[in-house]
Amino acid sequence: MTQPARIEAEGTPEQRMQLIFALRSHGVTDPRVLDAFEKTPRAAFLDRSFKDRAWEDLPLPIACGQTISQPSVVGQMTQALAVTSRCKVLEIGAGSGYQAAILARLARRVYSLERHRPLARQAREVVERRLGLANVSIMTADGALGLPDQAPFDRILLTAAAEDVPSLLLSQLREGGIMVLPVGQSDEMQQLLRIEKTPEGLVYSELSPVRFVPLLEGVAEDMDN
Ligand code: SAH
Repeated sequence: MTQPARIEAEGTPEQRMQLIFALRSHGVTDPRVLDAFEKTPRAAFLDRSFKDRAWEDLPLPIACGQTISQPSVVGQMTQALAVTSRCKVLEIGAGSGYQAAILARLARRVYSLERHRPLARQAREVVERRLGLANVSIMTADGALGLPDQAPFDRILLTAAAEDVPSLLLSQLREGGIMVLPVGQSDEMQQLLRIEKTPEGLVYSELSPVRFVPLLEGVAEDMDN
């Protein structure tokens, strides 16, 4: 059944509850994080044919052969990043812009890099124009290089899997800062890592096994660049 556009975007109370339940059952309990999810309609980031599945805890296809991550994984990563309203955050892999929008509700400033120009353009449209979030910049760039102009960052989040921890990105993390990323040599399964840069050195914690698309080199050659 087709829902009116407003309900489709905001979801029914039952759909919203289903999402919050999925988050909680995966250990996402931080009230600020849950609030950010409630305020960010995932349907806005999806193509028409997937909008009615926006509230399910599933990854879904987006343009350029990429995927919007599963909400419970977005929630776990966001919670592990411990973003405060003072934080300047860098995200690598803007994709649909959903994660960037969640971060924008928690942080002072968010920069998000995407190697597919059409995705970056679309994500910008949704985040800035439709949701009216003014503290996010989504740019087309090779995220593996980070964003030296704006470094250092208080938080860095990778939503594409690196084979090893990228030292260039670590060098752009402020002391006291936190980086969360999927790391692994296989496309099938990676480990979610949290790295804290303390005055005594790097402190690593392993979170959970995850599956992300790989971090690729360079900006993509898309047809409608
Ligand atoms: N965070 C996204 C989902 C990420 S999917 C969301 O909320 O929708 C991973 C994204 O990382 C893909 O869009 C892919 O194109 C991008 N990516 C992969 N390697 C990259 C790189 N080197 N620089 C920037 N983006 C990259």
